[in-house]
Amino acid sequence: MNLHFMGAAQEVTGSCYLMETKGLRFLVDCGMVQGGREAPARNRQPFGFDAKKIDFVLLTHAHIDHSGLLPKLTRAGFKGPIYTTSATADLLGVMLPDSAHIQEADAERAKRRSRRGKTTAASAPIYTMQDTRECLRQVQAVGYDDKHDPHPAVRCRFRDAGHILGSAIIEVWITESDIFWAPPLSRSGSLKAVRPQRSCSAGIWASQGDQSCAIRPSSRRPTFC
Ligand SMILES: [Zn+2]
Repeated sequence: MNLHFMGAAQEVTGSCYLMETKGLRFLVDCGMVQGGREAPARNRQPFGFDAKKIDFVLLTHAHIDHSGLLPKLTRAGFKGPIYTTSATADLLGVMLPDSAHIQEADAERAKRRSRRGKTTAASAPIYTMQDTRECLRQVQAVGYDDKHDPHPAVRCRFRDAGHILGSAIIEVWITESDIFWAPPLSRSGSLKAVRPQRSCSAGIWASQGDQSCAIRPSSRRPTFC
């Protein structure tokens, strides 16, 4: 089993994890890098994996730094389902088209600048509204606390993370080990009405609590648990 940190390593945006196990490949999150001059160029870089070979995506929550490159993934050939909570699915229906609109507008502006002979950044959008519509058709909502099998070898459960509406800590059981993904959880900034749930023990923690990325042995409990 191989876990690859494709983003949000030594930074907090661009969350994207690739899990490879038993001929199966899936992502947890596919977020956009945000902030800093290099972010636009980094978001344009090809993925460090073959999107066509990703079987499915598990999405922790709707913030763009976790979901913003999903339409790019679809554009690159990903055909599988994107599993997330129903509230996150609803939010994606607003946020991803908005992201596509911003990119199409930026690309149009860049083209106009280019026609006037001014140097400009790349003039093609990372993804279009059409890519986003196709991507949204791949989204499948799952309920909190229900055990769900996205693949015969994988079982997962979305647990309330209390970060934003629909956010989830995702427990993933694979034959070889238990994995546990969490969106960033601030110590004081979580929604008061949504209490994070305690979760079960896991063999590996892939955590972004306190805006950092870490794998911790199961003997250590995360601060939000
Ligand atoms: Zn977030």
